[in-house]
Amino acid sequence: MTTQRLYYSDPYTTAFDARCIEHTTFNDAPAVVLDRTYFYPTSGGQPHDTGTLNGIPVIDVAVREGDGAILHIVERPLAGEQVHGEIDWARRFDYMQHHTGQHILSQAFVRLAEAETIGFHMSPDSITIDLDTPTLDAALLEQVETLANQIVFEDRPVRAWFPDESELATLVLRKTPEVGGPLRVVEVAGFDLNACGGTHVARTGAVGLIKIVRTERRGEALRVEFRCGGRALADYREKNALMNRLAAALTTGYWDVPAALERLRDENQSLRRELRAARSALLEHQARELRAATPHNGAFALVTQVLDDDPQTARELAQKLIAYPQTIVLCGVAGEKAQIIAARSDDLPHDMVAALKAGLAVLGVERGGGRPSFAQGGGVTATREALAAALAAAAESLKSEPDISR
Ligand SMILES: [Zn+2]
Repeated sequence: MTTQRLYYSDPYTTAFDARCIEHTTFNDAPAVVLDRTYFYPTSGGQPHDTGTLNGIPVIDVAVREGDGAILHIVERPLAGEQVHGEIDWARRFDYMQHHTGQHILSQAFVRLAEAETIGFHMSPDSITIDLDTPTLDAALLEQVETLANQIVFEDRPVRAWFPDESELATLVLRKTPEVGGPLRVVEVAGFDLNACGGTHVARTGAVGLIKIVRTERRGEALRVEFRCGGRALADYREKNALMNRLAAALTTGYWDVPAALERLRDENQSLRRELRAARSALLEHQARELRAATPHNGAFALVTQVLDDDPQTARELAQKLIAYPQTIVLCGVAGEKAQIIAARSDDLPHDMVAALKAGLAVLGVERGGGRPSFAQGGGVTATREALAAALAAAAESLKSEPDISR
């Protein structure tokens, strides 16, 4: 004996009594088959209902292959034969709003965009349809959305029934079903006719607002994400609150947020430019001071310095220093990724790669290199003291270098 599916003719009843005709299991979980049920099983893109049987939570509802019995998978075994069922109405109604909304939206896409719905997905997180076209422009999407909402506003009746063979032959369905057998048809009066086993609202007004929120190309198909009724309200609420927060933070009206962001971006860009120029001037000054304070040994002035800056700033300072004639810079930054920079002005012959290697040897690394006039390396942890010792070794190595001044 198979289950009488009462939700077909009455999707609004949420409490009922039934007789348990089979105790079984489904994927190792206890399950029962009832003689009649209002519980909707996962099928046709619509997720199953939840609720309780004799107070025990129903965690899944499935159609059994073979005999079509409806399995109510319960959290723990159910005793006795008489069963009282209650359906979680909030979840059911959410899916009813979206399923009827989907039929309306799919028909609107057929009429205005000649796009067929080839997929339908409902979950607690998202509701989507897939259309048989890779792209649709924004204006057309808006027209489709407007038509769908017009059908909602007109509060048209929605009817579901099993037509007999002769009546079925007269009906033009949106999509020809692949399966044979008795066919259930859902009609949105004067607008859409389609084969469907799902639960639907009684009138289109109950769908509430239909809002397309996003589209995404998926190969040759276009995925359209939308929200209806309660979810559309929640989405509007969230986005409205977000816009208000943004507007308040920018001390402007919400309509002016894009312009305010543009202004901020421009301002930020010019501030960055100014900051770069100011930093460069500061480094210029620092380089001049350092060079002036460094004695000249007859061949060159040697600037040896452990810096507190970041490696990039140290590099820039070194570049500014070697713009002065007869100048050698051995500087570094201590820390977790310590760096040594060895550089000289173009009028000197010294090999700074060799000087760098002499310094790195003290730190126990070999990572580094560059040109004869500018070399950099490091990347290991080094204290200021270790770095100072490394710079001293690099300075010492310069003594074995050729000296063009003699
Ligand atoms: Zn359907």
